[in-house]
Amino acid sequence: MLRLANLEAGYGPLRVLKGVSLHVSQGEAVAIIGANGAGKTTLLKTVAGVIRPRAGKVSFDKHEIQGRAPESVVESGCSLVPEGRHVFPTLTVKDNLILGAYALRRRKRSAAEVTASLEEVHSLFPILQERHSQIAGTLSGGQQQMLAIGRALMSRPKLLMMDEPSLGVAPMVVRDIYQAVARLKRNGLTILLVEQNARAALAVADRGYVIETGQIVLEGTTQELADNQEVQRAYLGKEYERIDE
Ligand code: ATP
Repeated sequence: MLRLANLEAGYGPLRVLKGVSLHVSQGEAVAIIGANGAGKTTLLKTVAGVIRPRAGKVSFDKHEIQGRAPESVVESGCSLVPEGRHVFPTLTVKDNLILGAYALRRRKRSAAEVTASLEEVHSLFPILQERHSQIAGTLSGGQQQMLAIGRALMSRPKLLMMDEPSLGVAPMVVRDIYQAVARLKRNGLTILLVEQNARAALAVADRGYVIETGQIVLEGTTQELADNQEVQRAYLGKEYERIDE
């Protein structure tokens, strides 16, 4: 579904992605793990069209999308849940979700379909239904993360990209969020997530890549990565526990 070939990106003189190649097949959950500043956010932003690549290709769903505008990437079925959530703090939970359906409206989907998406999001995160009229900026960090994921789902993506969904979220809530991710995967959604929290990411992913200073240095199944001594030493610390839902 997604293939990156020799992707290069950066900021001014700074070369961040140095020829990244990877793929995500339909129905897979793939994790990219890496330390602070390794280039994880830059990678997702480049796929999402927020940053223009300097070289390389991004193929999504049989089309080359490198250099396309972000709204066009969302329209094609690829949504990003950004790092730090970026919900609209002064709008209600419901209005934040409805805004996520913007791409659907451009595709002339009906109000009934938007309502159906809203119901799916509510069934995944019931707290968002309970708090539908609450101002988003007053939600807890974990609830805002759920809202950001819900908002991305409102555009009915084929591929959901998530940038550090566990960042700044209490450990108990990280588990709730990753259980929801496991459920989305079980329902057939294709997922690409980046995490410093390798333990959480490997608990739901099928495969993973390790990125260091803008280069993929290791790839494998989650079991292979979890058994790798370098990964254990650098990213896991001790035994990790798998989450199936
Ligand atoms: P983190 O986990 O801290 O978010 P990351 O792996 O996502 O790290 P990136 O955010 O992609 O890493 O950053 C990669 C490099 O690019 C870092 O050296 C960072 O300082 C730099 N960088 C990121 N955004 C910008 C920007 N807008 N302008 C200049 N440099 C940037």
